[in-house]
Amino acid sequence: MATAPIDLRSDTVTRPTPGMRRAMAEAEVGDDVYGEDPTIRALEARVAERLEQEGGLFVPSGTQGNQLAIGVHTRPGEEVILEEGSHPFNYENGAIAALWGAQPRTIVGQRGILTPAQIQAASRGVDDHLPRSRLLILENTHNRGGGTVWKPGVFGDAVNAARSAGLLVHLDGARLFNAEVAAGVPASTWARLADSTTVCFSKGLGAPVGSVLAGSKAFIGEARRLRKRLGGGMRQAGILAAACLYALDHHVARLAEDHENARALARRLAEIPGVRVELDRVETNMVYAEVPVSAPSFVPRLRAAGLLVNSVGPHALRLVCHLDVDRAGCERAADILRALLESK
Ligand SMILES: *Cc1c(COP(=O)(O)O)cnc(C)c1O
Repeated sequence: MATAPIDLRSDTVTRPTPGMRRAMAEAEVGDDVYGEDPTIRALEARVAERLEQEGGLFVPSGTQGNQLAIGVHTRPGEEVILEEGSHPFNYENGAIAALWGAQPRTIVGQRGILTPAQIQAASRGVDDHLPRSRLLILENTHNRGGGTVWKPGVFGDAVNAARSAGLLVHLDGARLFNAEVAAGVPASTWARLADSTTVCFSKGLGAPVGSVLAGSKAFIGEARRLRKRLGGGMRQAGILAAACLYALDHHVARLAEDHENARALARRLAEIPGVRVELDRVETNMVYAEVPVSAPSFVPRLRAAGLLVNSVGPHALRLVCHLDVDRAGCERAADILRALLESK
């Protein structure tokens, strides 16, 4: 292959742009463990304001943000209710149990979306035999659900159900800005209803590292303590926060392009004989496609032909559109996939 491969495995593969690298190089920095990094403080304040929260905390990853929230909100033996395909349940290495001694209780949602009745049914009554139901975690957009956006009203109903059951609510908003752009409402629409929210900059926003956990002042104070315990206290990390600030200024509105590219890619894939794509499931930057061959053995063949994607089931592929692949690249991706299927 003379040309670079088209990498649609994830929006985490995005690389910092020249403008972002300049912002990083020029960032004013200090020791953030002393609270003296002005760029980190600016980022935390910007995110808190955007999410209508009292404070923010810069953390190295979305996983750490989610886990700090769980650590602050729960005590050992308590129960965390979350969707079966959710990130904190599947992709955080058992941390809910390993770090905090809390017990996950999963609910199967519709493309990641939960109903108030499900939440109510999953939360337990008060009885000496039972674990205390403490926290509900919601994910927006929902990754395994297909990059699904919670409709604000539906999200509000879920939060109300949680409140009636006495639960705290954490929002895993790794791709909350994708939801903002897709739904055309501010990210605070969802975040202001939750007790805490994580947002990630290292996904479609294109920063190399970084997430912010937001919540009340008291919550952030506790999360800051736990961050130190987990080794997440960073020093002159303003150099990283500068990339996140740059992303807020330059890479949020453009997520709409990724969403359009995903729809175009999905349509093109759906035209290939034997490939199945639920077009109405493509709400943001992700495309899930069923192929008429074994997905795990198809992936290396695609790679050899210049297309990187992930298999997510026996016949399922996930393709994620992002900053580093334009419309032509997405169309070429579909052409590569078609050519291989037709030559099999
Ligand atoms: C990526 C992601 C995270 C955080 O992942 P890190 O790799 O730890 O930054 C959390 N939740 C969801 C839904 C994600 O997609």
